[in-house]
Amino acid sequence: MADKIKLTYKPYTLKLKHTFTVSSFSRNETPVVLTEIEYDGKVGYGEASLPQYLGETQESVMDFLSKINFRQFEDPLDSENILNYVDNVEEGNNAAKASIDIALHDLIGKLLNVPLYKYFGLVKPENSFTSYTIGIANNETIRTKIDEAKDFKYLKIKLGTKNDKEIIETIRSVTNKPLYVDVNQGWKDKQKALEMIEWLFEKNVILIEQPLPKENIDDIAWLNEKSPLPIIADEAVKRLCDLEKVKDLYSGINIKLMKSTGLREALLMMKKAKDLNLKILLGCMTETYCAVSAAAHLSSLADWIDLDGPLLISNDLFDGISYIKGEIKINNLPGIGLIKKSRFIE
Ligand code: MG
Repeated sequence: MADKIKLTYKPYTLKLKHTFTVSSFSRNETPVVLTEIEYDGKVGYGEASLPQYLGETQESVMDFLSKINFRQFEDPLDSENILNYVDNVEEGNNAAKASIDIALHDLIGKLLNVPLYKYFGLVKPENSFTSYTIGIANNETIRTKIDEAKDFKYLKIKLGTKNDKEIIETIRSVTNKPLYVDVNQGWKDKQKALEMIEWLFEKNVILIEQPLPKENIDDIAWLNEKSPLPIIADEAVKRLCDLEKVKDLYSGINIKLMKSTGLREALLMMKKAKDLNLKILLGCMTETYCAVSAAAHLSSLADWIDLDGPLLISNDLFDGISYIKGEIKINNLPGIGLIKKSRFIE
């Protein structure tokens, strides 16, 4: 008998509009795997985004997905059991698991004819302004990028270079917009990190993401205690089980679907973070409108939003959320609210 719930997938390569550089690497492309889950004539879309540093590849994702067998399930609405099963197929594979979670939730929203935020019992996000990311670049490129970002209220700046102050001075010569700073573990000395944060505090910076290597637990706790700005864990947090480890070290966490294994666990992380008094930054990788629009349905629970992935790529397959002067708007379509662009359909 044919499976009632059918999973299909294919690799795809996202092209970046600009070479993207952070403290440890540069890249022009991001590999992804696109998933579809079909049931009763409806199709849900999902995505695994695979930046190299996270360790998953198109091959590892497709290998994981090939092990998934939905034959034992009759109904996609049985999502708790389905996702528990998927989680137990193998350790790790967080992005691969997210690609199933996202497609399954998109499908469920379509079957129930509700947008996902309603399905999760959340309000429609309002005043959800995303930051726009400026990677590490020379001064001229930074000025160009800031001009391109003129519609956005917040900028996210990648630091962790030898000339961090110069980068900030360059930005401040053209705009006084509030900044999120992401160091990607690029600073090594706690005392210098504190001095830099005190300097950034005077420059209208509002948060500091992962300033020190995640292993430097004592230094991070020391820095968070003394810092005038909230210190946010990104590399140090993937899943729900990590919150206990970071709750006394950081002021907040960056939640991304590709780390959390998808929407179900991201939502649990947001609820637990609130219980633990941790601030929430809702972030993304380089992703299409598929995964980023999915995450946007959770944005009413976030303190800060960094969902600019689709703006940084040139060959998206979908339309989804829209950005109106940097504010994220969710449409009224069921599920994630995706429209697949016809010109890319095979
Ligand atoms: Mg980060």
